[in-house]
Amino acid sequence: MRADDLLFVSDLHLDAALPAAVAQFSAFLQGPARQAQGLYILGDLFESWIGDDDDEPTRSAVCDALRTYTQAGHRLWLMRGNRDFLYGPAFEARTGATLLPDPVRIDFAGQSWLACHGDVLCTDDHAYQELRSIVRVPAWQARFNALPLPTRRELADALRAGSRAHTGRVRYEVMDVNAAAVEAALRSTGLRRMIHGHTHRPAVHNLEVDGEAALRIVLGDWYEQGSCLRLSADGQFELMTLPR
Ligand code: MN
Repeated sequence: MRADDLLFVSDLHLDAALPAAVAQFSAFLQGPARQAQGLYILGDLFESWIGDDDDEPTRSAVCDALRTYTQAGHRLWLMRGNRDFLYGPAFEARTGATLLPDPVRIDFAGQSWLACHGDVLCTDDHAYQELRSIVRVPAWQARFNALPLPTRRELADALRAGSRAHTGRVRYEVMDVNAAAVEAALRSTGLRRMIHGHTHRPAVHNLEVDGEAALRIVLGDWYEQGSCLRLSADGQFELMTLPR
C-alpha cells in the first residue's frame, strides 16, 4: 500500500447481525485505508439504508468511522447499491463522503475506468429490474422518506426478506451480469476498463469490445472475508482478499 493508491470495496452488507464484518471494516478504515489517498465504496456498504436520519447503533457507528476517516484527510466516495440506494445530501454531511452517480468515470494514473455497482448490468433478472425501476424514482423515495423511522424499518425488513427469497429462486446465470450489457456500457462510454461489485463473484475478466482488449474487475463481498481492489499510481492493480 502506498500513499497515492486508490482503494475500492463494495458489498460489505454491514448490519448488526454481522458484527465480524463491521469490526473488519472498522479496522480497515483505521489501518490499510489510511495508507491510501482515498477509498471508493461501490454500493451495498450497508445491508439496508432507510434514510439519512437512521439512528440504529451499528449503522451510526459505521457512519462515525467514515467521518473519522474523512476528517483525517482521506477522500471517500460512495455509490448507492441495490440495498442502500437512499443516501442523500445529509449522508454526505454526516460522513464527509461524496456521493457518486452510477455509473461514473474515474481517471487515475493515466487510465480511465467505468465504475458502477453492477446491478444495472444484470439485465436477465427481469423481476429485479422491474423493482429497481420503481424504487429509484424520486417520487417513490420522497414518499418513503416521509414515513416514520419504525415504518421504514419494517418495510426495509420486508424488502430484504423478499430479496432473499428471490435470489434463492433465480438461476445462477440469471444473477450474473449480462455480457451484452457490459459491452454496451463500455461501448457507449468509449472506455475499456470497468470495476463493479454486486454479483459477489470476485474476478478479473479479460474481454474484447469491438476488437479492442477490455478489462472487467469484479469486487467480492465481505461476508466471510474482505475484498479490495488497489489501483496504484504506476498503473498496476491488485484485487486482494483481506483475511478476517
Ligand atoms: Mn448489490
